[in-house]
Amino acid sequence: MSNAPHTWPRLYVGTLLAEKASLTLSPAHSHYICVVLRLREGDSLRFFNGRDGEWRGMITQPAKGKTQGTLVTLVEQLRAQSFGADIWLCPAPIKRAHFDFMIMKATELGARVIQPILTARAQIRETNTERLRAIAIEAAEQSERLDLPEIREPVTLDSLIKEWPKHRLPIYCAEFGDAQPAAQAFSGALAHARPAAAIFTGPEGGFTEDESARLRAMAETLPVRLGPRILRADTAALAALACWQALCGDWQSRDFSTRPTEKREGPHEP
Ligand code: SAM
Repeated sequence: MSNAPHTWPRLYVGTLLAEKASLTLSPAHSHYICVVLRLREGDSLRFFNGRDGEWRGMITQPAKGKTQGTLVTLVEQLRAQSFGADIWLCPAPIKRAHFDFMIMKATELGARVIQPILTARAQIRETNTERLRAIAIEAAEQSERLDLPEIREPVTLDSLIKEWPKHRLPIYCAEFGDAQPAAQAFSGALAHARPAAAIFTGPEGGFTEDESARLRAMAETLPVRLGPRILRADTAALAALACWQALCGDWQSRDFSTRPTEKREGPHEP
């Protein structure tokens, strides 16, 4: 096994991560690392839980059989806990495959909270939060995130607007009307004065006039145009998220330490 930490598999676990802590992995995780990846005693993995940073764990006892969990001991913290930019995504739910895709990509793009909104024209009125969470975990593991997006249960647009947190700038993706082009809007004073923001996108049928009026009437709101073409809801959500990250979010930072520092060649710690 290579000594370069970024080559070690990454797993999200819900338990506390601390030096010398020992983990008993779930049968599913054990199957993945011992059977699929064929890791063995002494091999390293990376773990994160969204609170304690990223840790190196060493396999001390590979699982024997399908129901047993692999034993791992944590040996060192590789990265301190950090969070990306404070951006929410508030999309109307859309057809399952497209919504799954949106969740996966929004996780990679750093959405902190995904709050589905039930709008008048949203044909999909329910989401399977557990399944979406599993998609987000896999995307967080792959994208080297140190946290998971919080996937919330759908709420009506009305109730969300009523309870809207004052400090968070609502960004409303509007394919019609006088919305500013995204690059201009996200380069403007308001977008930069509000480090906490949320992107709203409508369903396949779009927002109604009334919903658009309510979004525009919020205390502070930033309608944005995503170019001259009508984008699919998932395309629009991800395009807006990418533009915001590039101009207001954590794509600005030069610190690309999503990867732990390279380790010197050396023996496996006991
Ligand atoms: N109203 C559109 C139509 O007439 O075909 C359909 C809505 S579009 C599929 C879904 C959502 O994506 C819209 O509600 C809007 O939030 C966003 N969207 C799509 N294209 C956009 C654009 N060019 N600029 C801003 N938002 C856009």
